[in-house]
Amino acid sequence: MSDRAVLSIDFELFSQTPAYRSASGEMAETGVGLAGGEFLRETLRDHDATATCFVVSEVAEDYPDAVTALADAGFEIGSHTHSHRHLSELSPADCREEIGRSKAILERVTGESVTGFRAPSFDIAPTQFDALSEAGYRYDSSVVPSRTIPGWYGGEFDLHRPAPASEVDPDAPAGLAELPVSVMPGLRLPLTGTWIRFFGPRYTILGMRLLARRGITPVLYVHPWELVDLPAVEGVPSRVYYHTGDWMRRAIARILEQDFTFTTARSVVEHSIATDPAGATGTAVSVGETENRLEER
Ligand SMILES: [Zn+2]
Repeated sequence: MSDRAVLSIDFELFSQTPAYRSASGEMAETGVGLAGGEFLRETLRDHDATATCFVVSEVAEDYPDAVTALADAGFEIGSHTHSHRHLSELSPADCREEIGRSKAILERVTGESVTGFRAPSFDIAPTQFDALSEAGYRYDSSVVPSRTIPGWYGGEFDLHRPAPASEVDPDAPAGLAELPVSVMPGLRLPLTGTWIRFFGPRYTILGMRLLARRGITPVLYVHPWELVDLPAVEGVPSRVYYHTGDWMRRAIARILEQDFTFTTARSVVEHSIATDPAGATGTAVSVGETENRLEER
């Protein structure tokens, strides 16, 4: 049986990205990125693959068909907040609102239960884990164990496998798990996002194989807007445009051709709890205890 991998989809529109929001210019187009979502749905289906879509719930309100199509295709729907604002810049009340409201909207639109969450720009708020637990989520996937990238993220975490969220924050509520996004062993830069566009799919595929050899399920991420021809907007940095559109579509197709079974984030978290309750660091959490906690939610 081939090794498992997760290609997670952070489903926001180009208009919701920090790069566009902080730019001086504007675009006339709306819904920029939706076509990338369609490409992913069809390409994953063609490869008998599934995925988790962390969806910004504003998109589900404005374009419900785009989101129900993903759920109907069997993809897991997770939350990527309601409005894609950076959680650490919000008040605790607004952070709770982003986390709770998005879950309710996504569940209403798709009819599926939403148990996973990813913070915009992997920007983790101090109250995030409490708010996730209160709202009934089971796992977070906002940790990038990357080296420090100035002005970006990284340097905070050294977690490379699914684990109880208390491995990230000792005060995190019991019953919440963390699924970190994958970085290249040694180099400690993410395998995807901007880095696949800089380094190419061979870099990503090499990282996936190195992780699989260590028994770690690679967790990749992609944005639908990376797969479309973006309109030129004054003030958006050129790195945002680099290798987007057709180049990135070919890169994703190449990754899906590799000998991995692409599955959902939720299944990797559940599998990890069932088979390795101690997680990466040996913290004792009994399977029964964890499952009971999850059942309560
Ligand atoms: Zn995002």
